[in-house]
Parts: sequence; C-alpha cells; structure tokens
Amino acid sequence: MVDINYQDTLTDIYTRLLKKDNYGEPSEAFPVLSDVDTKKFGIHMTTIESENFSIGDANDRFSIQSISKVLSLTYALNLVGEKIWQRVRIEPSGSAFNSLVQLEYEKGIPRNPFINAGAIVICDILVSALSNPKQEMLNFIRSISGNENIDYCKATAEEEEKFAFRNYALANFMKSFGNIENKISQVLELYFYLCSINLSCQELSHTFLYLANNGVSPLTNLTVATPSQTKKINAIMQMCGLYDEAGEFAYRVGLPGKSGIGGGIVAVHPGKYVVTVWSPKLNKKGNSYRGINFLEIMTTETEISIF
Ligand code: GLN
Repeated sequence: MVDINYQDTLTDIYTRLLKKDNYGEPSEAFPVLSDVDTKKFGIHMTTIESENFSIGDANDRFSIQSISKVLSLTYALNLVGEKIWQRVRIEPSGSAFNSLVQLEYEKGIPRNPFINAGAIVICDILVSALSNPKQEMLNFIRSISGNENIDYCKATAEEEEKFAFRNYALANFMKSFGNIENKISQVLELYFYLCSINLSCQELSHTFLYLANNGVSPLTNLTVATPSQTKKINAIMQMCGLYDEAGEFAYRVGLPGKSGIGGGIVAVHPGKYVVTVWSPKLNKKGNSYRGINFLEIMTTETEISIF
C-alpha cells in the first residue's frame, strides 16, 4: 500500500477548496444554526494508531445535531441488543431526514435509526431502559470520547424545542401506532439535548474512533461495541447516514458517514481512521456541501476507500 502523508493531503485539499466557491446555505431550522459563521471550515483525522492530522477550524466546536444519532444507536444496542429492530428498520429511506410520509404505510415503524423518526424511537427505547437517560447518555459520550468536558447546550436544545413542529408530529404519529412508549415531551427532550451537543472536528474524530477499530476506542481502551455491532453500525451509516443522499455519498466518497445540519460530517474508514469535516453551508439534502466535496477528493486522490 502507498504510504500516504495525511497531513499534506488534508492541507492540500483544504487549500484548494478554500479558493473555490462554496455553495448552499446554513440550516434555517432555528437561529443557533442559521447564525453560524459560514466561512468556517475544519478537518480532523485520527487514525487507529492515535495519530492526529488537522487543518482549519478543526478545534472550533459546532452543533453536532444528527451526528449524535450514531451515539444513541450505539448505546441502545449496548443496552437492549437486537430487539431494537422490532421498532425501527435498517433500510435507506430515500426521503428527507424529517419526512413523515413513510410512517403512514409502514405503520409507525421508521425506516432506519438515522432519520429523525428512527432516532426518536431510539430515544424512546433509551428513556424506557435508563433511570436518568440524559445524564447516562452524557456519561456514555464522555467516557467513549475520554473527554469530561463534553456537555449539552441547554440554549440550543430549548431553542430547537420551540421550532420542533415536525419532530412533535413524527413522535405523535408514531405514538398513534403504539411505537412510542413514554411521554412525548420526555422522549423529545432527550432527542433535542443529544442534538444540542457542541463538539469540534477533533473531538468528534476521537469520539467515533471505536467505529474504525472493531468497537474498541484506541484512545481510552474502552470497549464501546462488539465487533459485530460495529460492523452493523458502519453498515447503517453507509446506507442511511446521509439520508436521501446516502447513495450519492457512497458513490462519491466510499466510506460510512454521518452528517448533521450543523454542517459536520464524520466519515469512518474501518481499520484505518475517522475523519471529521465541518463547513456550515448545506446542500438541498441538508448535508455540508464543502464537507462532501472534501471527502470525495480525499478518497479519490488517495485511492483509498472501503471499495
Ligand atoms: N435537530 C435536527 C432535527 O431534529 C437534526 C436534523 C439533522 O441534523 N439532520 O431536525
């Protein structure tokens, strides 16, 4: 295999992209997201040998939003195991992340855990399984990242709640089919708080490293998931991590990934590294325009992806 100088690769692609036009708009879901500085651009890669490569605004924290859906799925799998698949499926949705349409004819069972409906069901499962779901999820995220500094952003969570008409609709609709066990306010509170966490590209790469290393974080030596669960989570990221752009992401980038409307994308190369990109301008599907471009150029020019 060619020995790649990742720092040079990151720096070179970053510099080239900075000179190119950056398209799209930041999320308009609520003010915390729309008020972001759209010039921000950061990249951080951590390998399973714990090497770190960074460029741009890689240490600035941003709202991780839907990237948190991978962490809640991981913890739900830990706690409840395969039973969760009775409540949520593992198929690509082909619809927008906050779409309601499939729930009608699929009787309240969401397509996958990485669209809003699926993540809300996962939160319901966590609320049923945990005595203090918010605190225990935070402890879990702190422990897998080796970072006690991570916290919820109350202001973001409370702001999201004010604009969350669709998420309330999804939760109510699923409850009408019997697929939400707990009080909707309690389930959505956990969901909003998980979306509210601010992390940097560096912190996200560290947090997600277990997915590149068979479930064990090389930074903390903690077993976060079994090898089999890790395979499955990566597979779902590959198929569903970028909503109705997951096919195009697989085609262009060739790595499992998870995006959020804060403009972050985490991509995993199992057995090698995690790379996180942040650029707040989103394309029409709600994914970072520059983030996808960066990852596409990186896997194309290094000729290394999972395919
Ligand atoms: N908090 C956002 C929502 O619930 C997360 C969506 C996303 O990042 N795609 O709509």
